[in-house]
Amino acid sequence: MALDSKIPSGPLDQKWSKHKNDSKLINPANRRKFTVLVVGSGLAGGSAAATLSELGYQVKCFCYQDSARRAHSIAAQGGINAAKNYQNDGDSVHRLFYDTIKGGDFRSRESNVHRLAEVSTNIIDQCVAQGVPFAREYGGLLDNRSFGGAQVKRTFYAAGQTGQQLLIGCYQALSKEIAAGGVKMYPRTEMLDVVVVDGHAKGIVVRDLQTGEISTHAGDAVILATGGYGNVFYLSTNAMGCNVTAAWRAHRKGAYFANPCYTQIHTTCIPVSGE
Ligand SMILES: Cc1cc2nc3c(=O)[nH]c(=O)nc-3n(C[C@H](O)[C@H](O)[C@H](O)COP(=O)(O)OP(=O)(O)OC[C@H]3O[C@@H](n4cnc5c(N)ncnc54)[C@H](O)[C@@H]3O)c2cc1C
Repeated sequence: MALDSKIPSGPLDQKWSKHKNDSKLINPANRRKFTVLVVGSGLAGGSAAATLSELGYQVKCFCYQDSARRAHSIAAQGGINAAKNYQNDGDSVHRLFYDTIKGGDFRSRESNVHRLAEVSTNIIDQCVAQGVPFAREYGGLLDNRSFGGAQVKRTFYAAGQTGQQLLIGCYQALSKEIAAGGVKMYPRTEMLDVVVVDGHAKGIVVRDLQTGEISTHAGDAVILATGGYGNVFYLSTNAMGCNVTAAWRAHRKGAYFANPCYTQIHTTCIPVSGE
């Protein structure tokens, strides 16, 4: 079975901008005719739902917690790498790209990693504009610390609770769109299955976790932003809900499953078994 990952053509450092420039745009007046179902309201799903709504799409967002604010993104601690070179220690998009490829044991998709390095600088600006209180130096400039696998200081952080502060920023952007009527939020709602029409995901089956009622939702596109699944292992620092159920249901409906070697466990949860 051949996997077509639809990597855009062209030189590595131009693939992503070429793809953006070649993509068809949807007229703003037509966007409200489309419904997007976003499963998950962590940093990935919450920001996707808020952004799509701000663009004018009709969005339905689902999570199993009692509030989008409690997605597991809240547990992230260390910080975000971005190639802003604020420390003037020689950082660049290429260096962040290379460090990430090397950190991924040369198994990551290069075009996707390059895109990550390219958008990293903008993400910090967006989060600051949202009010995320990244740590600052005495003079008021954003501080950086050095993370593993890097020879430069490029990690933007908010004490030991970067994920929590980011999720507050994401949640307030989502809340603004819920209040504006662009996003309808379904907390305490678990996705049970994906509805596939002609090879495209066009709907989901969900269960209300309070009443047990099962219902279906139709959409023009489905985004699964259902997070990590560390609890597929016996030992994990992830919450018990990070249990692969959503990804497994999509896989049963034909979605390919890739890179389980990138599942995050924290080595601190592995008990000592010898010297
Ligand atoms: C302790 C810890 C420290 C970390 N430190 C860092 C760090 O320093 N830097 C860094 O970059 N990353 C770090 N990470 C990783 C990073 O936090 C995560 O990769 C990221 O937050 C995941 O975001 P997400 O939106 O994909 O998933 P999540 O925040 O887990 O959100 C998943 C969402 O999907 C929903 N969901 C799942 N299954 C279903 C279902 N069946 N039906 C309905 N809804 C469902 C959940 O309700 C939730 O809303 C850390 C992670 C942990 C746990």
